[in-house]
Amino acid sequence: MKNRVAVVGGAGFLGSHLCNHLSKHGSDVLCIDNLHTGRASNLNLLYSKDGFELLEKDVRELNKVDLEGISQIYNLACPASPPKYQDDPFYTLDVCYTGTLKLLDLAQKTGSTLLHASTSEVYGDPKTHPQAESYLGNVNTVGPRACYDEGKRISETLCYEHFQKFGTRSRIVRIFNTYGPRMDPHDGRVISNFIRQSLSGKPHTIYGTGKQTRSFCYVADMILGLEKIMNLPDNFVLPTNLGTEMEYSVNQLSEVIADICGVAQETVYSELPQNDPKLRKPDLVRAQKLIAWSPEVTLRDGLRLMINDFKEN
Ligand code: NAD
Ligand code: UDP
Repeated sequence: MKNRVAVVGGAGFLGSHLCNHLSKHGSDVLCIDNLHTGRASNLNLLYSKDGFELLEKDVRELNKVDLEGISQIYNLACPASPPKYQDDPFYTLDVCYTGTLKLLDLAQKTGSTLLHASTSEVYGDPKTHPQAESYLGNVNTVGPRACYDEGKRISETLCYEHFQKFGTRSRIVRIFNTYGPRMDPHDGRVISNFIRQSLSGKPHTIYGTGKQTRSFCYVADMILGLEKIMNLPDNFVLPTNLGTEMEYSVNQLSEVIADICGVAQETVYSELPQNDPKLRKPDLVRAQKLIAWSPEVTLRDGLRLMINDFKEN
């Protein structure tokens, strides 16, 4: 019998790549999304495929019937870019709490396994570098990023407590900055902003000094990591970082994007948003032990693919 998988938040950037990958490799895929930040057009390659279905619904309103026959659930439902998750902080908090709890309850009732998409943001503005899973984080609970950071932290706790009390099978993955085709050019994240700006003859908007760093992982690498963690035999997988160790400052990123787009690098600097993490790079030892996985796509190669996608669309 075919594996039937639900991807909640599947019409978003990461979710649509995951739906494509799973469908291509033989699973039936039920994409569940309320199109809050996702786009139905992200799934255009899939509508004609046998075994693919889009259920337009809020994760918080799902019921057992919706997930009938599902053996694996990926929970990606949550706005991910800072401007989007800060737009309605109560929504962000509630999707993280009520949405994750709802999926855990349904996973328990249907005997399926939940993979929860957590984030490097649980480390806040970190005081250790790189960030290993053992680092407990430095999150300001009363700042503009808290609705997302704390929302994601409580989602992790829900997975843990559900496993403790009911034995619900789950995995927690802490995703570090991931980019690629089909990112929303207007979602406000740094790579989509810089590419859109370069392609429309505008300067890159750099926040702060631009010396803050991120480690940017190409989406295809991330999807393989997520699938491998989902398929581990363990009942509960402790939080595991996925991302790349290739670390760039925002200034360096701006330079590389301008270069690949074939334009002169122009920049305009403005204030750094409150609590913006200064350094970010994953420690990948746990991931390597668990799934023998390392990202392969270089920043330049990944950016070329994304820039072509932005040009075409
Ligand atoms: P995205 O905004 O493109 O995707 C999120 C999807 O969730 C969208 O399709 C949106 O419509 C859907 N959604 C939101 N609220 C929902 C609800 N109530 N019910 C059903 N669907 C809902 O963002 P993304 O970059 O694809 O991120 C996907 C997940 O991965 C998020 O949970 C995010 O926190 C996590 N993550 C992403 C990154 C990254 O760099 N892309 C990094 C860390 C964590
Ligand atoms: N950033 C920037 N210009 C932009 C958008 C973002 O300089 O137009 C900076 C932002 O302040 C942060 C980094 O780029 O330091 C990554 O931002 P993004 O929103 O992509 O992700 P996150 O902060 O959640 O890692």
